[in-house]
Amino acid sequence: MINKFNIHAQKQEFPGSDTDLNPPAEFISKDYFGSKKLEGKVALITGGDSGIGRSAAFHFIKEGAEIAITYMKGYESERIDAEWVKKWAENEGGICKIYPVDLRNSQECVDLIKHVLLDFSKINILVNNAGTQYPNEDLSTLSDEQWLNTFATNVHSMFYLTKATLPHLEQGDVIINTSSVNGYLAPGNMVDYSTTKGAQISFTRSLSNQLLSRGIRVNAIAPGPVWTPLQPATLGQYNPEFVENYGGNSPMERCAQPSEIGPSFVLLASADSSYITGQTIHPNGGMMVGG
Ligand code: NAD
Repeated sequence: MINKFNIHAQKQEFPGSDTDLNPPAEFISKDYFGSKKLEGKVALITGGDSGIGRSAAFHFIKEGAEIAITYMKGYESERIDAEWVKKWAENEGGICKIYPVDLRNSQECVDLIKHVLLDFSKINILVNNAGTQYPNEDLSTLSDEQWLNTFATNVHSMFYLTKATLPHLEQGDVIINTSSVNGYLAPGNMVDYSTTKGAQISFTRSLSNQLLSRGIRVNAIAPGPVWTPLQPATLGQYNPEFVENYGGNSPMERCAQPSEIGPSFVLLASADSSYITGQTIHPNGGMMVGG
């Protein structure tokens, strides 16, 4: 059982960095031992430099996968986070390559897939994880710019990357999309974000049906509150107090560490979930959402 941890009011510059999180986040439990569940697989994880994506990256390395991770180009803090993951993976005897990209751009997504295929010659696991969020209390003040940016980051990137990757996926390969409990709870101060997270669930379901005949599974993960740079870099920008005791109003009265989300990615990436497709896993600390 992970104890509650003290989270103070804080903010970071967008897109945020794991290095500046206070308290620091945990990405993999010291009690997690891999068992070669992903040996021989190549995984591409967007936003694998930090937070939930970093935890997925650590767990995939422990399970024997080779990984490609993206970070948002143009930000030194992101490059540092990504280099840190690469170093960690190499210390574990694993292979990790890092790719700067702006996933809102269709051509950059296509080029990313080309580069990853050149480097690894295949992709077996696509994790559409990168995302962003901004609070807004009143739809009449929600700018078109924010609406489009949230959709471009969370939804369009998923479409571009999946489309570019699909011709290269084979039977047994998987797609995993990081949605959110907010796709279900839909809080009133996050209309654009909640809408994108709901869209990810429907995309997951529809695509899973389309790909049944190819033996490619498509699933989603809808975490509850997780201690990542996203919170100080978005909520904290708006008001540092919003980050204080983050997740404290959830049933477990705390947010999750990223290390508590990573194992869900292993389940959906491995043959352990061979009879699961079109579904969403809910590591959310006890919130009843269904679906
Ligand atoms: P994070 O800040 O650690 O990761 C977000 C990543 O997205 C970053 O690495 C960032 O570089 C990347 N990104 C953002 N815009 C990008 C762009 N235009 N191009 C390329 N990369 C871009 O935060 P996180 O919480 O780990 O977020 C990962 C996913 O988890 C997101 O989809 C988020 O919506 C989802 N999620 C987070 C929480 C939470 O409480 N932290 C809860 C539910 C769902």
